[in-house]
Formats: sequence, C-alpha cells, structure tokens
Amino acid sequence: MKLLYLVPLSIVFTALIFFTGCGDNTAQTIAPVETEQLSEQGQEEVPPTERPASKPERPASKPDHLASRADSSKDLESMVILVNKHNSLPSDYVPEDLVEVDISFPFEGASDRKLMREDAAVHLEELFKQAAREGLKLYGTSGYRSYQTQEVIFARNVKKYGSKSAANRVSAYAGQSEHQTGLAMDVTSPKVDFRLVQCFGDLPEGKWLVENAADYGFIIRYPRDKENITGYTYEPWHLRYVGVRAAGEIAQKGKTLEQYHESDVWG
Ligand SMILES: [Zn+2]
Repeated sequence: MKLLYLVPLSIVFTALIFFTGCGDNTAQTIAPVETEQLSEQGQEEVPPTERPASKPERPASKPDHLASRADSSKDLESMVILVNKHNSLPSDYVPEDLVEVDISFPFEGASDRKLMREDAAVHLEELFKQAAREGLKLYGTSGYRSYQTQEVIFARNVKKYGSKSAANRVSAYAGQSEHQTGLAMDVTSPKVDFRLVQCFGDLPEGKWLVENAADYGFIIRYPRDKENITGYTYEPWHLRYVGVRAAGEIAQKGKTLEQYHESDVWG
C-alpha cells in the first residue's frame, strides 16, 4: 500500500538564516539546502523497544557489480543514485515505496516530511533506536520532498535573493534536491531547539552519527570542507541512505558520494 500523503503546501518555508543557538548567539550559519522553518511544537519521544541491539552486518566480500557502479548513479531505483547540481531527477519522479518513518518528529500530524523509501525508513528506525539506547535523543525534521514543493521553495528564494544564481547558492533547483529521492532525512536535537544548524555536528548526537550512521547505511552527505565536491557547505544534519556497503566504503575512506561514483577500485 502506498503511503504517500498529499498534504497541502501549507508548511511555512521561510527561514534561511538560522542562529546557531550553540553558545554563540551572534553567530549565523546559512543552510544552503534546507529552507523549511521547523515547527516549534515538540513531540512525545517514542521510548526504545526492548529488542536487543542488532546492527546490520557489513558485507566483507567484494561486490560483483563494479561495472554497474557508474550506471547506478542515474538509476532511479538505486540506493546510491547521485543527485546534485549536475544530476537532476525527472519532474514527475515520485518514489513508489514511500512509507512513514517510525521515529520522533518535532511536529504533529501526517506530512510528506515523515516519508522515506522503505529500505531507508527501516534502517533509520534502527539507527534511531540504537541512539536512544545510548541515551541520545534524535529527531527527524524533513524527509521526502516533492519536485513541486522544491519549486515553491526555490521560487521564493529567487524572489528573496534577486536571481536564480543567488538563490542556488542557498537552495537547490527543483529536481536537484536529494530529498526528492526519499533517501534523505534531516535530523536534529532538542539541544539546538530542533533547528538545522552546523553546531549540531559538535554535539554528542552529531558526533555519534559520524561514528555510527554507516553501520545502518547512512552517510553525512555534505561533510565539512567538501563543498568544492558536493556543491554545498557542511550539513551535519543531512543523512543520506546509500545502503550499508556503500556507506561503509564512503565513511571508511572519508569520501563523498560523488567520489564513490568516480571510484572503480575497491579495497
Ligand atoms: Zn537535507
């Protein structure tokens, strides 16, 4: 059953500049992709289950599909699909297996922002459960985002910044947002008032994600000091599902998804 919620575009998309709220109230950081103002409404935390920790196993064997790695960057069904300023998704692309992720969000009710592709959703739930077991409170804020929603966001930024090129410095063109893949989720913490700010990466939660996300198939998609490769500044909150094997390689070697696709050598 498809669980795609067709909610009206009533969410307020306004804030581009966030105060860090991390001990320096004068500092500002610009969120280049994220343009959604988060709800201030908290949500009851879902207590972790009693199930024992069960990290997905990382395969040790060499993959047998090296020849297909380049092709996978453009395959809409692939978990390692590459979406960036040079690789766009079709305007009519909507993942067919979107489901609501069973994690905590700082807002109530049904929303596209709670959706991810099923495989990503299952793994994110396990990641969040493990974080909770270790005493860390993570919240999701923004998962799937339609092409049409991104169009609205980008048009608003063109108006705000005066030109498309100026708007593209802080937000993605429609079709170029990873959120349209259903494989990305922005995560945050009550410690930063549920905002998307760079100092999230300095919190125990942000550091824990760097160390553990790959075990569940996720990467920090826009690492610090990789803007020249990814096209976006550091976003410690933006998790991208790529599958356990690819995430392991990317994390272990300190790569980006762009470099993963350029590489044809394993080991
Ligand atoms: Zn994001």
